[in-house]
Amino acid sequence: MVVVMEPGAPESRIEAVIQRLNDEGFGVHRTTGVGQSVLCAVGVKREFDIRLIKVLDSVADVYRVTEPYKFASRSWKHENTTFDIDGVTVGGSEVLVMAGPCSVESEEQMEATAAFVATQGATFLRGGAFKPRSSPYSFQGLGEEGLRYMRAAADRHGLRVITEVMEIGQIDLIDSYTHVFQVGARNMQNFNLLKELGRGDKPVFLKRGPSATIEEWLMAAEYVMSQGNPHVILCERGIRTFETYTRNTLDLSAVPVVKKKSHLPIFVDPSHGTGIRGKVIPMARAAVAAGADGLMIEVHPDPPNAASDGPQSLFLEQFAELMHQVRLIAHALDRTIREPAAAS
Ligand code: PEP
Ligand code: MN
Repeated sequence: MVVVMEPGAPESRIEAVIQRLNDEGFGVHRTTGVGQSVLCAVGVKREFDIRLIKVLDSVADVYRVTEPYKFASRSWKHENTTFDIDGVTVGGSEVLVMAGPCSVESEEQMEATAAFVATQGATFLRGGAFKPRSSPYSFQGLGEEGLRYMRAAADRHGLRVITEVMEIGQIDLIDSYTHVFQVGARNMQNFNLLKELGRGDKPVFLKRGPSATIEEWLMAAEYVMSQGNPHVILCERGIRTFETYTRNTLDLSAVPVVKKKSHLPIFVDPSHGTGIRGKVIPMARAAVAAGADGLMIEVHPDPPNAASDGPQSLFLEQFAELMHQVRLIAHALDRTIREPAAAS
């Protein structure tokens, strides 16, 4: 932590700040230039609230130089984190694609989607059985029936399952159907849910809150990891800005920022990130170009009649086009995206 004193600060106040820093357990190095002192406090605990120093008399500013998160940080673990999920490696050279409808609606819908996305190179089937909807009057999901349809369709087509868990009470049920727990944007700071998922071992796909800073998002990952679960995947899904021509603003700069700050794999969801079908393919291309380790894409066999998020869901043939285009980008970066199955 660096404490900058106001120019001309009286010696007594500088000494009071040094005393306070010592009382907090820090070692202090003092540098004095022309009429101004800077104090360098070493041994700062991550949880230390720097405002305690900021409010002291004659302190001009205080800067934290170490991140408040540990397990999620690149300084704690230098190599990229990779892990296996039922035979696929997350965070490696293969860019993974998770695809499926916003909500699980029926057995037929999941079968048609799974059959198609599997042949195009997707490795995960997505779909919500418990839906966090902005309106209590909107479709809330099929619950366990939906989980059953999704898992059965995924198993028939060699896919893994990712689905959202909204509360602690759903963990055991969802655990028996899914390979990955999705924590939705609205729940990014549901700290009790994060801690409970952290006590398990199953991967957690942590979406960025619509108004969360990258630091808050990494702190949410820290909640999971601090309980012992290292299997966290981050997902940028758009943040809320003043822009109205898209549903959210997809913050792709988060990808290189997270790559520098953290060793965790990061995916991008251009479906929620833009909210408009026609914007999904370009932003999926851009996400892979920015270095994303994977994509989450909403795809539906009949988007105009989808129970939720139809306007941002791709038609099946558009999904095939997306896969073709992002594969070209991945190859340009010496990464891979699974090839489509040969037509029989
Ligand atoms: C979803 O994936 O369908 C979803 C609700 O996402 P988010 O939490 O990013 O809004
Ligand atoms: Mn959705």
